[in-house]
Amino acid sequence: MHQLQLFESTKDIYYRVFRQLRPRTIPPEILIRFKPYANANCYIRWKDQQLHVSLADSLKLIPPKIAEAIAFILLSKIYRKSIPEAALEAYREYMNHPETRDRHSRVRRERGRKRMDPAQGNHFDLDEIFKELNGAFFGNSLDVPAIGWSRNASNRVLGHYDATHHAIVLSRFLDRPEAGYDLVRYVMYHEMLHIKHPIEYDGSRRIIHSRKFREEEKRYPDFAILKEKLRDLCHRKQSSRY
Ligand SMILES: [Zn+2]
Repeated sequence: MHQLQLFESTKDIYYRVFRQLRPRTIPPEILIRFKPYANANCYIRWKDQQLHVSLADSLKLIPPKIAEAIAFILLSKIYRKSIPEAALEAYREYMNHPETRDRHSRVRRERGRKRMDPAQGNHFDLDEIFKELNGAFFGNSLDVPAIGWSRNASNRVLGHYDATHHAIVLSRFLDRPEAGYDLVRYVMYHEMLHIKHPIEYDGSRRIIHSRKFREEEKRYPDFAILKEKLRDLCHRKQSSRY
């Protein structure tokens, strides 16, 4: 008896796309694997004359049209052909769709717990600073995130806001008297602006510090002086990130 197949499998899609891209080439064995990547990553590589495709398992339930677009992108890449514009566009549009981004954030959130030390540091209490700033600059409008000090004292990354976990982490590097209350307060203010001004997307480009973000940051008292002090404190050739 015949097994009736209603849907094209992921593998079928890759063979079909292959025939479209290289009609005169006998296709190699193509192996598809779904892996528990935190991001919606996908990779392709040659191994033992077989094509190995690794896809994030969050890509398991995507519309066939998008699966096909990814197949075009990966196969074009490995054969050094230019990626068909339509495939690239379909892929970008799907990935930037708020629903897709939400779904991927959820996966990331479930996979990774945020590692941080309590907000009460040796010298500064970040909960206090957040509360005070929220009142002074944001009319208490910001949802209180998880707040903590990082486990390692990095002077390369001074702080970050993680939208997925709704968490602000400041580098332990700043939890010392030389840093001073004003600097810690400024970095916290900066991270709070990230809550207020979420990452913007221009096509597939992420804009972390938007124009609006930068404009508002400049209004912080003694902004330029504090930035300078922070640079001195970190003592690095390249500016630190936060
Ligand atoms: Zn920032």
